[in-house]
Amino acid sequence: MATKALEAQFGRMSVNDENSNSGEGTKLYKTKAAPSSSQLANSSSRPGLYKVALQSQSGNTVTSVTLPSQAAQRKGPPPPSPTRKALPSTGSRTSDESQAERKSVVLVEQPTIKQFHLGMFEIGRPLGKGKFGRVYLARERSNGFICALKVLHKNELQQGRVEKQVRREIEIQSNLRHPNVLQLYGHFHDSKRVFLILEFAGKGELYKHLRKENRFPEWKAAQYVAQMASALRYLHRKHVIHRDIKPENILVGIHGELKLSDFGWSVHAPNNRRQTMCGTLDYLPPEMIKPGGSDNFYNEKVDLWSLGVLAYEFLVGEAPFEDTPVMTQRRIARADMTIPSFVSPEARDIIKKLLVLDPDKRIPLDQVQQHPWILKHCVKGERAANREKSKSGPSQ
Ligand code: ATP
Ligand code: MG
Repeated sequence: MATKALEAQFGRMSVNDENSNSGEGTKLYKTKAAPSSSQLANSSSRPGLYKVALQSQSGNTVTSVTLPSQAAQRKGPPPPSPTRKALPSTGSRTSDESQAERKSVVLVEQPTIKQFHLGMFEIGRPLGKGKFGRVYLARERSNGFICALKVLHKNELQQGRVEKQVRREIEIQSNLRHPNVLQLYGHFHDSKRVFLILEFAGKGELYKHLRKENRFPEWKAAQYVAQMASALRYLHRKHVIHRDIKPENILVGIHGELKLSDFGWSVHAPNNRRQTMCGTLDYLPPEMIKPGGSDNFYNEKVDLWSLGVLAYEFLVGEAPFEDTPVMTQRRIARADMTIPSFVSPEARDIIKKLLVLDPDKRIPLDQVQQHPWILKHCVKGERAANREKSKSGPSQ
């Protein structure tokens, strides 16, 4: 697809960028040492910042989105004379969402529709590099809002044939608001790049924590599974299937809370399209690896299987079907796994109830939240589950 077409896809954008005369090409300059996130968060001056000049061509475009104010970021009461607030989402509402929004009226201030462009951000240290882009710590200049700015190069997206995937990621993720789902505040683009304004996850990748700790203690694994169950329950209620749940796609917030990210493979349910999956097979559910021709149908229950794999990996330190690719597929198709004896009976029970071949027989998320293993290790989880239950009514 031509770059023009891609630009058109990221439509509804007006031409307006303060960098439009800054010359051709894309250059990254480093000048000084990178700051710590607290430096970035606490100081309004700029010394010590990595100055990354992301120059852009003329004809830059921006989109209308709003960042929450710092008040929202602080989770505290708003300052006495509020100036901005989060833009209400335009997607379909759930009772959860409207509750959250009512709450955010207290926390955040009045709405301002904002046109984002690169000049509005101070760019900080690089946070990481993915297949198609780099992610930087960033601060919105006007209110000091800290976020993560993901920079994707259009020509790389084209070469990798992932424009659709990115577009879907943006569409889906920007309509989601949940404490355990990484928020996408907005996006904008110029002629060469697409920028995603993401919630900053202060403690980085869960995968790294798991590698460092080898495996998590039961209490931590249970709290993590409860948080993922809550995130998935929210997504499924909005008819979103994530389809790519694994530690690599989960980030950790500053308070140690999990943030599900990477919606590149997510879809609106139900889905009967075949997809070419890349990456690890370890988390794929049996119904997605079955050679089923065009009747390769699956639903949101694929995420329950992956939650089972995740619970296992948290507790054991490796995925249950880890093997050669051929053997992994074979073992998934038979749910052939063994749970080591150091795993408690309650944890063993929840894993076995999630890793069930028949998608309809997998334990549903509300029962995951009420499972004895979860209740034993997270009182908070229990309260949250009850709250959700009473809010969402008997049909949920
Ligand atoms: P892939 O391209 O395979 O999906 P990825 O998910 O690792 O790889 P990115 O989403 O581009 O790629 O992120 C690259 C890295 O940057 C992440 O692994 C993580 O370490 C860091 N990172 C990304 N987003 C954030 C964020 N919002 N907060 C903190 N760190 C982040
Ligand atoms: Mg990823």
